[in-house]
Amino acid sequence: MVRAIYPGSFDPPTNGHQDIIKRASEIFDQLTVAVLENPRKDALFSHEERAEMLEKICAPYDNVEVDYFRGLLIEYANRKDARIIIKGLRAMSDFEFEFQMALVNRKLDSRIETVFMMTNSKYSYLSSSIVKEIASFGGDIRPLVPPKIYEIIIKKVPQQ
Ligand code: ADP
Repeated sequence: MVRAIYPGSFDPPTNGHQDIIKRASEIFDQLTVAVLENPRKDALFSHEERAEMLEKICAPYDNVEVDYFRGLLIEYANRKDARIIIKGLRAMSDFEFEFQMALVNRKLDSRIETVFMMTNSKYSYLSSSIVKEIASFGGDIRPLVPPKIYEIIIKKVPQQ
């Protein structure tokens, strides 16, 4: 049984995140999508709201659960008995930071393996910040986020 964790802020989730969740759920036996509850990082959505949106997105996948965590990812992975951490890669700009994090995490616990999944080219430009920015200017974010969570996002993003 191979368990994997897909961690992130998901503030809010996008089609890019959904694509990684679907593909990872087809590779691993059990997938936990883990919302980072980071008090230092200003999130627009609370971790409960982010987890609620992810629950809607993950509902079709029987082997996917949603959870949240704070503190060290490695400790959380050990608590969940997971040895695989999944990261999505969009561009070289993601690579440098993720490369460093993967090596640090391996240093902290050599049993943990970080697996990188290349973005779907359709979503290579897509990020949570872009979604918030477009929505704040009244742009149409329907092509960027799963339909199930569109209304939740629109209601929360402050208009400029
Ligand atoms: P973080 O706070 O870790 O940057 P995000 O919520 O932005 O969290 O992203 C969570 C994970 O999803 C990261 O591994 C990120 O690289 C990946 N990701 C984000 N957007 C995309 C996308 N459009 N395509 C593929 N992976 C993505």
